Amino acid sequence: SGGHDDEVSKAERANRAQEIYGTQPLTIFSKIIDRTIPADIFYEDKKCVAFRDVNPQAPLHFLVIPKTPIPRISEVTEDDKELLGHLLVTASQLAKKEGLDEGYRLVINDGKHGAQSVYHLHIHVIGGRQMGWPPG
Ligand code: AMP
Repeated sequence: SGGHDDEVSKAERANRAQEIYGTQPLTIFSKIIDRTIPADIFYEDKKCVAFRDVNPQAPLHFLVIPKTPIPRISEVTEDDKELLGHLLVTASQLAKKEGLDEGYRLVINDGKHGAQSVYHLHIHVIGGRQMGWPPG
């Protein structure tokens, strides 16, 4: 298979989503990708989009998400390596573009203990203030 590399139509993505999610409905993030609901999308390429988090936890808070609706990081496979690398490289490049030259935090929440709320994989990019450790 071509992995996640190819630009796919809305219908093809829906089919892929159906395979991954089974009978589960698509998340709100698929609707953001398809422009069914509005979001502040400020970057897009063949494999991913980035948009501002609607409930920002810092002066700058955006999400980088794959167009392919992988539900969560604990479900990725070897086939997702290239896509995952692309998401991280994109997050880094966008952080630089957004002027986060003092550093920032990348977060991927997974499942219940990770406090994941949207089951479409996303990398949080959070910056513009001093972070604490450990996280809550
Ligand atoms: P998580 O808790 O890791 O699943 O993160 C989900 C994130 O998505 C939260 O930070 C929400 O504020 C954000 N979010 C949910 N709905 C939207 C939306 N429609 N537009 C932008 N961000 C959203």
